[in-house]
Amino acid sequence: MAEAKKVENTIIVGGGPAGYTAALYTARANLEPLVFEGFQWGGQLQNTTDVENYPGYPEGIMGPEMMVQFRAQAERFGTRFVTDDVDRVELSGGGVQKVFLGEEEHRAKTVILAMGAEPRRLGVPGELELSGCGVSTCGVCDGAFFKGKKVIVIGGGDSAMEDAIFVSKYAGELTIVNRRDEFRASQIMQERAREQGNIEFKTPFVAEEFVAADGEPRLDHVRLRNADTGETEDFATEGAFVAIGHIPRSEVVADQIETDEDGYIRTQPGSTRTNLAGVFAVGDVVDRTYRQAVTAAGTGCMGALDAEWYLRDTPPLSPPDRRISASSVGRVQSTLPSLRP
Ligand code: NAP
Repeated sequence: MAEAKKVENTIIVGGGPAGYTAALYTARANLEPLVFEGFQWGGQLQNTTDVENYPGYPEGIMGPEMMVQFRAQAERFGTRFVTDDVDRVELSGGGVQKVFLGEEEHRAKTVILAMGAEPRRLGVPGELELSGCGVSTCGVCDGAFFKGKKVIVIGGGDSAMEDAIFVSKYAGELTIVNRRDEFRASQIMQERAREQGNIEFKTPFVAEEFVAADGEPRLDHVRLRNADTGETEDFATEGAFVAIGHIPRSEVVADQIETDEDGYIRTQPGSTRTNLAGVFAVGDVVDRTYRQAVTAAGTGCMGALDAEWYLRDTPPLSPPDRRISASSVGRVQSTLPSLRP
């Protein structure tokens, strides 16, 4: 017969600044958190170079290095990690929360959802087919492959400016293509992009298709349509970086929890409580406005405190809910997994 194990106090789903901060706080509260940090742990900061706006790092720090430090700090107080993506979650209002890796079931009295957000895609022909063959959603990851080449960055927000500034250090020529004449990006980021010297702006243009070179799996040109006149042109480019925002990664709890029309999990004002008792949500999966590492970390702290107070104020679960099979902790680990390539 399988050995019985206690139900976890808290399971945290997500391994970015929000999830690791929630882990740090719940670990220091002796709640022994179990974190499902995802296969690509570290979240979006794994794709970032210099972070200059996180307080406490006057010289800045590289995004991946910062995530190693966040993780280590949570681990120091006993956090356990599973470096894998959750397959399924069964949420309950006030009951036992269940998290599945395949058939492996993990249970907890509370769950803190911190899945973050992922890059938005254009959804046009060639975008996925040429992904990794000239089309990218991460300038910081792939910019160095385009030394001396002609590339474009699509988008008009801060992400597009940041990608463009980074990639322009390698590229020969870089054009930022935006669908409107106005840019959503902050003034300072636009100015920094203009100061690079090798960045041009092309507006108002929409990318309609990424087209491969004849018989070769590599990007040759992008078909652009002028949003005002409707005219199209083939814009020769060897690299295209799509930087048009992000989508909250709430799909694993879709239809179980209240979200807004774009999939951001709704929380009660001034708290991380969702519409389900015992379920808390933090970081970019909630936040469509600020989306900064420091704000994600701040809400991670809030989620941990909300979970702690919920556990303090909620009567214990009934005995059958406390027991699970020994197999449920099969993949828990605490050693540092290698960074993604
Ligand atoms: P964003 O601010 O939402 O900007 C998205 C951009 O992509 C907009 O220009 C938008 O155009 C365009 N876009 C969206 N869908 C498109 C489509 N289907 N086709 C063509 N263009 C499309 O997203 P973000 O740039 O990722 O920034 C998100 C947040 O993170 C912001 O708060 C930003 O300030 C912050 N951030 C800060 C930094 C930094 O300070 N270093 C760096 C990155 C991000 P429209 O304007 O026409 O909608």
